Amino acid sequence: KQRNSNETEFLQATREIFDSLRPVFAQHPEYIRDGILERITEPDRTISFRVAWEDDQGKVHVNRGFRVQFNSDLGPYKGGLRFHPSVNNSIMKFLAFEQIFKNALTGQPIGAGKGGADFDPKGKSDREIMRFTQSFMTELHKYIGPDEDVPAGDIGVGRREIGYMFGHYNRLNGGYEAGVLTGKHPDSGGSLGRTEATGYGLVYFVDEMLRENELSFQDSRVIVSGSGNVSTYAMEKAMELGATVIACSDSGGYIYDETGIDLDVVKQIKEVDKKRIHEYLKYYPEATYVEDCSKIWELPCDIALPCATQNELDEESAKALVANGVKAVGEGANMPSSIEAIQYFQKKGVLFAPAKAANAGGVAVSAMEMSQNSMRLSWTTEEVDERLHNVMKNIYDSCTNAAKQYGEPGNLVMGANVAGFLKVANAMLTHGIH
Ligand code: NDP
Repeated sequence: KQRNSNETEFLQATREIFDSLRPVFAQHPEYIRDGILERITEPDRTISFRVAWEDDQGKVHVNRGFRVQFNSDLGPYKGGLRFHPSVNNSIMKFLAFEQIFKNALTGQPIGAGKGGADFDPKGKSDREIMRFTQSFMTELHKYIGPDEDVPAGDIGVGRREIGYMFGHYNRLNGGYEAGVLTGKHPDSGGSLGRTEATGYGLVYFVDEMLRENELSFQDSRVIVSGSGNVSTYAMEKAMELGATVIACSDSGGYIYDETGIDLDVVKQIKEVDKKRIHEYLKYYPEATYVEDCSKIWELPCDIALPCATQNELDEESAKALVANGVKAVGEGANMPSSIEAIQYFQKKGVLFAPAKAANAGGVAVSAMEMSQNSMRLSWTTEEVDERLHNVMKNIYDSCTNAAKQYGEPGNLVMGANVAGFLKVANAMLTHGIH
């Protein structure tokens, strides 16, 4: 705690894991003896670098780039790149740390990392984005590779950014190297179904949890925060399963449409026009826009899917959701709920699907992209979706079994932390002390 005293998000993420692991240590003193906790909370390395770039007016800007290579006991470092002004060392470290357990839960041979820059892509031209990503990759390329570290997208990094970075990596590398990044366009080695994977996977996971409790998405009212990659495809799959999605948001505010959000309009606004969510009112003037995104949790709903960013759902929001009858919460974003909010949901008997299990579908399909790149072939959308569905079911089973085995049946937060930890910790034990 002392060593990382100013890293609040990182301390929050580690505290949640430690709380879950108490019963494991009681039964397995070898993890304490071999210093697994001390070792698993210290990254293999953190790389931080200057990213200088020129805007369209010829003005020079300097941002800070990061790559945290946290753990490689299960495979090459794997995790997304985030471009957002809030990016700092603590946020990078908590995301990379969470990735260790998430990636382990997928059952695929991938280690954990995360990276990004405190760059704000909002309002930048295509050419500015290109120059920034090229400058970023000029430094990052020294540390990544298909068997070393394979970055992907995250907040502010989608197909366009991955495309520019991939092009620049290949130029620096002196030739095409498909396996160095995932989330690529399918025309240049990307996997079909990757764009949809995190959102679809979240809904598959929550669907398992609902079924086990004799509930379903059918005829339920759903709230999804954000309107980016994860949110859009969580909405799409929830609608496919018969839900009515009544609200979504961006960092400026939320829209509420009691008849059900028109997802084609949201895609047009966010993916094509790259505009703000309040534009929805131009298409549906009878919908409501509220200029405070955190108030979205005050709307009555059956299922809440926070899919925007860390700590977007605090205890007060949890209380509002419970008071309005929420039955289930599934985390699409990384660590969107505060520890107090999670404890409140659990105390009130709300079904709770934690991020590191429920949003693992994206990285699972990224690992499938790596496999397809290595084999030089591509699977169909249906094939990828079926594999994704199976991975999410398996993760759900691992979490429920671990929770049962360690004395807290139904506690998926504990189950996810324990199941993920055991996989990595056992690999670490076999690799000796390093
Ligand atoms: P995007 O950049 O595509 O979308 C993020 C969305 O969240 C945007 O609509 C953004 O609005 C909104 N947002 C940001 N901050 C806030 C806030 N404080 N309140 C409300 N809305 C906000 O990112 P992704 O969809 O890729 O990622 C979302 C979350 O999911 C992140 O936590 C990410 O780490 C996690 N995740 C993503 C995966 C992926 O495959 N993409 C995989 C696993 C996890 P605005 O445009 O105004 O900023």
